[in-house]
Amino acid sequence: MQVTIVGAGVIGLSTALVLEERGHEVRIVAAAGADTSVSAVAGAVWFPYRSGPPDRVAAWSARTRTWLEELAAIGDAGIDVVTDYEITGELGPEPPLPWWAAGIPVTRARAPVAGEPPAWRFLAPRAEPAIFLPWLARQLRARVERRPVRELAAEPGDAIVNCTGLGARELAADRELAPLLGQTVITGCGGVDRKLALTDEREPDELFYLIPRRDELVLGGCAVPWPPDEPPRADPARTERILAQARALGLDIGPLHGVRVGLRPYRPSVRLERDPAEPRIVHNYGHGGAGFTMCRGCAEEAAELVEGAAAP
Ligand SMILES: Cc1cc2nc3c(=O)[nH]c(=O)nc-3n(C[C@H](O)[C@H](O)[C@H](O)COP(=O)(O)OP(=O)(O)OC[C@H]3O[C@@H](n4cnc5c(N)ncnc54)[C@H](O)[C@@H]3O)c2cc1C
Repeated sequence: MQVTIVGAGVIGLSTALVLEERGHEVRIVAAAGADTSVSAVAGAVWFPYRSGPPDRVAAWSARTRTWLEELAAIGDAGIDVVTDYEITGELGPEPPLPWWAAGIPVTRARAPVAGEPPAWRFLAPRAEPAIFLPWLARQLRARVERRPVRELAAEPGDAIVNCTGLGARELAADRELAPLLGQTVITGCGGVDRKLALTDEREPDELFYLIPRRDELVLGGCAVPWPPDEPPRADPARTERILAQARALGLDIGPLHGVRVGLRPYRPSVRLERDPAEPRIVHNYGHGGAGFTMCRGCAEEAAELVEGAAAP
């Protein structure tokens, strides 16, 4: 089949890859390249954050985790496996496993930071967007055609896959999709173990996370509802708060390299379905804070929907 993918962030590129692997002829159209998409700003560690619905997110995430672990073994895709601690506070004896943990080895442990708070510990693949996104693009026969799309149904092909992230607010007239601001602080590695990742959500308004990269640390964060027509802006007070939390946890971080912001394409439920009015269109957007975490699982389901569209 001939398939047009609209969007070249992590979702569009992953979907294009699966469709090419399955023998389809793919075109990719995107207003901007992956390097300027929200995908370029992400942490991007495997963790099903700010996305729904839970049962489908857990399944897409588990599938993606396996794929990312396979990529970690080949090295040049920019994927490494880190040990992640999700700090929870005391949960009492034998707490139920987190909702996303089906089939994933997760244990109770003390996080190796000041105070040794209790946490869920698990292995998590982590992508470096600056390596992984170009790697994905290099796996494709298709090249990205740069232009904005105004009307999905006007695009050629047996099927069109809408992977426009937040762009779908306009393109699919979807008001359930809303920007959720994320802000990260990038520092040198200092003395922090580069295989250690942390999330601390004990104070819901003071989300903190640490994601190690090969040459730097990503410290976060926040998830702030943001006006749809406003560009994202960093808040210096938030930067200070994030750095103070890192110090309070005893993390020996390196010097400040910069501050980054991005808008997560948040929707109560990821939209992964065939368009009810135009069966040639398959939507694959609204991955919130977990686009890297779910990309492969969602891409495979999108490919099945595309192939289903061709069935009599
Ligand atoms: C600070 C921060 C930290 C994050 N950390 C993580 C993490 O640790 N793990 C994780 O899994 N996720 C994380 N995320 C979330 C992740 O970044 C997103 O879920 C993911 O990048 C969404 O990818 P996407 O391809 O759907 O959208 P995007 O990356 O926004 O790509 C959309 C594409 O569509 C194109 N487009 C849009 N509209 C049009 C149009 N009309 N015509 C043509 N092209 C169009 C754009 O140009 C772009 O190419 C984080 C996000 C932020 C902001």
